[in-house]
Amino acid sequence: MTFQRADLEKQVLDSPKEVKWCTRCVVSNQRPRIIFNDDGVCSGCLNTDYKNNNVDWDERERELVDLLNHHRRNDGHWDVIVPSSGGKDSSYVAHQLRYKYGMNPLTVTWSPLKYTDIGRKNLQASIDSGFSNILSTPNGILQRKLARLCLEELGDAFHVFVLGQISFPFHMAAKLGVKLVFYGENGEAEYGGDPEYLDKPYKPSSEWLNQHFKGISFKELLEYGIKNKSYISEEDYADSDLMFYEPPSSDQLEKAGILGKHFFSYYKKWIPQENYYYVVENCGFKPNPERNEGTYSKYSSLDDMMDGFHYYLRYIKFGLGRCMEDAAHEIRDGHLTREEGIALMERYEGDFPKKYFQEFLEYLDITEDHFWDIVDSWRAPHLWEKINREWVFKHPIK
Ligand SMILES: [Zn+2]
Repeated sequence: MTFQRADLEKQVLDSPKEVKWCTRCVVSNQRPRIIFNDDGVCSGCLNTDYKNNNVDWDERERELVDLLNHHRRNDGHWDVIVPSSGGKDSSYVAHQLRYKYGMNPLTVTWSPLKYTDIGRKNLQASIDSGFSNILSTPNGILQRKLARLCLEELGDAFHVFVLGQISFPFHMAAKLGVKLVFYGENGEAEYGGDPEYLDKPYKPSSEWLNQHFKGISFKELLEYGIKNKSYISEEDYADSDLMFYEPPSSDQLEKAGILGKHFFSYYKKWIPQENYYYVVENCGFKPNPERNEGTYSKYSSLDDMMDGFHYYLRYIKFGLGRCMEDAAHEIRDGHLTREEGIALMERYEGDFPKKYFQEFLEYLDITEDHFWDIVDSWRAPHLWEKINREWVFKHPIK
């Protein structure tokens, strides 16, 4: 029987029916909220032009120092929270804040669904470079059921991780009286979202629902699951288990004096490859011994066995996978030509993440047939057609 789902995830329905690829990089107009100009150039590339030509980075650094001076404490208490996986970007931010700008950061970590060895080691290495860290690991039974619910109804098991990854640091900030929460890059500006974010140093909580939570609150999602899924019930959790899947309310944040997610990429020019060299040098960071499936890189998103499926499902939904993510940024940063990017896309984009497939099925407690039924339920007809019983992507980059 084919899997039937509700349409809780609206972005997929909104994507343009005619596929266009950026003439300068390797992203298409299927990316939610991306904008193309009349010359067919995407907002990710135009944002890079803006960063290269229009932003006064010395002035931005002065703004950073002002902000940090405003929050800096002399009583020995933490004065900034850095949500950190121990990956290259968050380790870079925490290390810069502490050692270059003299702040006293606390790093907080929301556990991946299933840690890889290299992910655990990099988190420990980051802690060993001079940070206190709070790691939160959610109720394992609930987390797995929520991951399955998120895969079935939002096309992304990893979404359950995103909920906690964004919400948990703000609970810690409010509880510990820390008003500044620093993230690495602003995805909207760096990866080709809405250009209006280029000149915004932080993102208030009112924008998280649509930009991070796929337009559905955790409560609505859970209620939907309890009503419609036999595998999840109120027996699986106590109310306290749910606390960190939702951010504090905007009232609570306001009372705590917390503006939102601050972005280091607003203040300092964001070049992922350079962050990588920095953390290898300063934070004991180690890349994967082999390339990540679905791309050519070895240094980003290494800590979760499950996140390959996040990129794979995005490839099914939007025709944009993990290789695109790496190559588009490196083309904009001048590390690759578009032709080299296309060659990498032809080789790696959309590769199935088979290495951890069994772990993924076991984690979610689903069969392989059910997995493929779910995947097929997310194939947009304008992107996919079946030829000789094989699904073929209709608009590869050229
Ligand atoms: Zn572009």
